Amino acid sequence: MKTFSSRLPQVGTTIFTVMSRLANEHGAINLSQGFPDFSPPALLLERVTHHMQAGANQYPPMAGVLPLREAIAEKVAALYGANYDVETEITVTAGATQAIFTAITACVRPGDEVIVFAPVYDSYLPAIELQGGTAKVINLAPPGFRPNWAEVAATINTRTRLIILNTPHNPTGTVWTADDMRELSRLVCNTDIVLLGDEVYEHIIFNGPHASLARTAELRERSFVVSSFGKTFHITGWKIAYCLAPAALTAEFRKVHQFNVFTVHHPSQLALADFMRAEPGFAAGLAAFYQAKRDFFRAQLAGSRFELLPSDGTYFQLARYERINRMPDTEFARWLTIEKGVAVIPVSAFMPDGTDHGLIRFCFAKNETTLAAAGEKLRAV
Ligand code: PMP
Ligand code: GLN
Repeated sequence: MKTFSSRLPQVGTTIFTVMSRLANEHGAINLSQGFPDFSPPALLLERVTHHMQAGANQYPPMAGVLPLREAIAEKVAALYGANYDVETEITVTAGATQAIFTAITACVRPGDEVIVFAPVYDSYLPAIELQGGTAKVINLAPPGFRPNWAEVAATINTRTRLIILNTPHNPTGTVWTADDMRELSRLVCNTDIVLLGDEVYEHIIFNGPHASLARTAELRERSFVVSSFGKTFHITGWKIAYCLAPAALTAEFRKVHQFNVFTVHHPSQLALADFMRAEPGFAAGLAAFYQAKRDFFRAQLAGSRFELLPSDGTYFQLARYERINRMPDTEFARWLTIEKGVAVIPVSAFMPDGTDHGLIRFCFAKNETTLAAAGEKLRAV
């Protein structure tokens, strides 16, 4: 073969892999890729081992095991007053990334337009491009990163097929409000536009309540709503998430899902179902748990030359570094990792047009000892 013509010629290796690798190479404290450095609940680990030993080692049902779908349905009903049918409206996926890819694949045809908000999570655009869709990027401006609804209205046209939103928002920590959702509702109500809500940080919110797309019937009827157990139970490496959608949308979602992964790790699903039954309050405690970490980390950086932006949700903290130097953010992130021993994510990695706001992202889903050690290094920068 002489040449292999790429379908994603502009795409390199994801920034999370690049920065974690650099952190490991240089022995830096890794506050770049978002993952906890503490253990999941012991009961969850005990249950997954139990189910493996008990024989749950063959294919589970394509949509996910029933007890887990039931536990999800109960949680969503209690939190958002939304009744999703366990048979036809809930699908367990191999992480939110797969759910998002699957929803986009099920929905977007060549020539369709998809509205996204930048900073934008890095998996969305390649997924849209692979389906032949065109991303219409709406830039959110610092420091507030609020959506401008007039701009959204002006971007919608007859080719608009899908709008993807992410709240609480990675990397900015911005949280959409009930008013935002009303605006969105007003804009899409007389259209066939589909919505995809990336709500993986639904429980990590410091000025809630979380404005889920699942909350109102008008939005729910046209929405794929995605959450991830990785964020909620400190198990990013298990890659298990779920997608809620009305039956007609779920049917299309599953047409893709069944040929994409078919189904998801069996014993882990049963373990998650057991854990959600045993400790139904765990998710509700997450906001206070992470708010304490956020506040601890912010206190560590008091007196440093970093300027902290607000963080209303997620386990991320943005910071401006112009008082330290004026390097491009990608160079600054490398420099901080290699020379100063703390790895971070440059926010321009989330900007399709490469806009550099001079901002970096820290992940504070870490033990206090890790955050304190990072704080010491960062105060010296
Ligand atoms: N969306 C956002 C906004 C995320 O931050 C992440 C992961 N950090 C994902 C999707 C992917 O989640 P998962 O690991 O479950 O695929
Ligand atoms: N979503 C995580 C982050 O924002 C990383 C996930 C990944 O590495 N693919 O850091």
